[in-house]
Amino acid sequence: MRWMVVLLMILIGLCAGCSEQEVIEPVANFEPLKCKPGKLDIKMHSSVATIGMVGDILLHNPLYTYADFNPSFAAVKDKMRSIDFLLANQESLPGGVELGLSGYPLFNSPKHIIRDLKNNGVDMLSIANNHTMDQTGAGLLRAIANMKVYNMPYVGAYESEKDSETKRIVEVNGIQVGILAYTYGLNGMPTPAGKDYMVSLTDKQRIEQDIQDMNMLADLTVVSVHWGNEYALQPSEKQKELAIILASAGADIIFGHHPHVLQSYTEIGKTKVFYSIGNFYSAQQFDSTNIGGIAQVQVFKNVVAGRTQITTGPASFYPTAVSRDKNRKFIVVPLSEAGSAVNFNEAWVERQVGLSAN
Ligand SMILES: [Zn+2]
Repeated sequence: MRWMVVLLMILIGLCAGCSEQEVIEPVANFEPLKCKPGKLDIKMHSSVATIGMVGDILLHNPLYTYADFNPSFAAVKDKMRSIDFLLANQESLPGGVELGLSGYPLFNSPKHIIRDLKNNGVDMLSIANNHTMDQTGAGLLRAIANMKVYNMPYVGAYESEKDSETKRIVEVNGIQVGILAYTYGLNGMPTPAGKDYMVSLTDKQRIEQDIQDMNMLADLTVVSVHWGNEYALQPSEKQKELAIILASAGADIIFGHHPHVLQSYTEIGKTKVFYSIGNFYSAQQFDSTNIGGIAQVQVFKNVVAGRTQITTGPASFYPTAVSRDKNRKFIVVPLSEAGSAVNFNEAWVERQVGLSAN
């Protein structure tokens, strides 16, 4: 059997740079000792994908009055679109004009934010956060209906029990990616009586079970979690405790948000943990709330002789800032291009998060 192990190791080495779904045939001049041809399936398939998330999309006044958000993302569109699967935390739910648009404290956003996020590379919205019930259960249902209009997948809040039980698993370059989302709370706004399924809360036992179930079905489990203390530049003890629980249950990537500012990145075993990825698009007034970015992780899938191996490669963080265009409209720009509009630079982000842009 030893030669089989050696052969597989050679083939794994050879396939380090092969592209999606490429099949590597046995090396022509490799002498496989004494073996009956056809007895061993040594075909190897390899895929690579980038999985990313941007932080809070929070349409304060005057953002919710904009008729078109494409100019807001124009400067980072290419970067957003370059991520194979990109999540966003849609903190202000897009219930649409019928409910009356509003900013803080009870948000309700126009539905075309969904259209424009999709157009700029967002593949799924995480909608479990402390504002999910701002417009009651009826508002959530309208927001979900609007996401369906634009064929935008969502996770973390649901229209029915059946919807909440439907696993969010998407195929990204041949990799089955499972996505879960939770929030610590709902600002005291209750879910309708008997409809606890409408929002996923950070209930420890439930999350552990959800992750274990997802691991049985997907190659990779990504958890989007709304947690921590607002404006705190360091993760809280509660965040750290929950991160350990999520990692122990088998989460591969944890994307955290809610503090509105950047917090550190860490690894717990093989689990990549972004404690807080900040605001991506908002009109908050404090300097550090204008800094956000795109968190991403490379994922590799190798299938050798029928066995699947998933590995996650380097994590990175591409810093962005909320700035103003010449008409004073709020836009997202690469931090490197923000200039004097913000008091933070890439070196600060690199120290704060602990990751570089590449
Ligand atoms: Zn929040």
